[in-house]
Order: sequence, then C-alpha cells, then structure tokens
Amino acid sequence: MHELGIMTNVLDRAVAVCQEHGGTKVTKITLKIGVMSGILPNYVQSFFDVLSKGTLAEGAQIVIESDPAVFMCRQCGAETVYPELAAEYVCSQCGSSALRLTGGYRFQIVNISIV
Ligand SMILES: [Zn+2]
Repeated sequence: MHELGIMTNVLDRAVAVCQEHGGTKVTKITLKIGVMSGILPNYVQSFFDVLSKGTLAEGAQIVIESDPAVFMCRQCGAETVYPELAAEYVCSQCGSSALRLTGGYRFQIVNISIV
C-alpha cells in the first residue's frame, strides 16, 4: 500500500497547484519514478483514479518517466546503469556485487498540467 500513500500526496499537491493558479481541472501529472524506489508504476494510475474521484484532479492522466537505477562499484569505481529491476546487480566492469546505489531510488512530481 506504499503507492496509495504516495498517490494521496500527489493528489493533494496537484489539487493545491490547481487552486493556487486558479485552474478548473488537473489534466495531466508527470511523475518520475525511480526503478529502485519501491513504487510499482502499474498501480499508480488506478490508485489515482480512485483517490481523485470528485476532486479537481478527477480524470487526470498520469505520465510516468522511469528513472534508471545507477550503481557505483565499491571495488573498481565504475558506474553501472540498470534501466529495470533485475534479479541481481553486478558491476558491468569487474562483476563485483559490492555496489552502492547512487540513482534511481527517488520519486518526484515533474509536472502538473492544469486548465
Ligand atoms: Zn567494478
């Protein structure tokens, strides 16, 4: 239910932005979701549809930009990018699994479109 809490925040934020700018409706919300953020993009739109019923953001389209996972190798310092979740993560240079996550763990609202 991680996604539900997050989408509640997104909804509150979108409605607030719409009201601040004197808009009548939120049409589109662009989110950047890190591969390692623990948020499953497939649930995001459906949760939002339920939560936004009767609000200014009802019917808004959720656009998701995926943010790839980036790892820094503790052995050789090389950076390895994983665009999607994987069963295991290893350095593309030396094969080490001693990696530090440096990107793709965040979640952010990129843009809110209103009319
Ligand atoms: Zn390495």
